[in-house]
Amino acid sequence: MGIANNFQDKLKKISKQAKDTFDYAKMEIKIKSYGRECKKRYTRMGMLVYECRKKGSAVNGEEIEHICREIDKFKHKIKIIQRQMEEIKEKDCSVLDSDDCSKKEKNKVFLKKKDSNSKDMEKEAKLLKFCPKCDVGNEPDAEVCVKCGHKFE
Ligand SMILES: [Zn+2]
Repeated sequence: MGIANNFQDKLKKISKQAKDTFDYAKMEIKIKSYGRECKKRYTRMGMLVYECRKKGSAVNGEEIEHICREIDKFKHKIKIIQRQMEEIKEKDCSVLDSDDCSKKEKNKVFLKKKDSNSKDMEKEAKLLKFCPKCDVGNEPDAEVCVKCGHKFE
């Protein structure tokens, strides 16, 4: 039960991390697109100013103001997203921690494997009859040592 819960927690954590990574990527895309929107407006303003100079007419202040406000809006949106991205980055540190945890977990499994291996070896060792003279392992039902011929009692 405890193990199952632990596993579910881990699964939740992993899917949360995947979601964060996904969100992070989405945020990056959003920032880029907002940046492009800003650029478009800068270009439009530049074109307006250029056209006015060509025509010899005054720059439409209202139109410029409107475009500037739009740019401000996009910049504000970018700032909010950047803040959210910072939050995810901070979480990423804990992602690293849990990576450490999974490494430890893997080590545990490895150790367990090693343990069971050594237990198997112990079992095998118990089955052997060791010669007190030369330390060679003989079959459990051996009467004499295969190496030195020592007689087992
Ligand atoms: Zn022997």
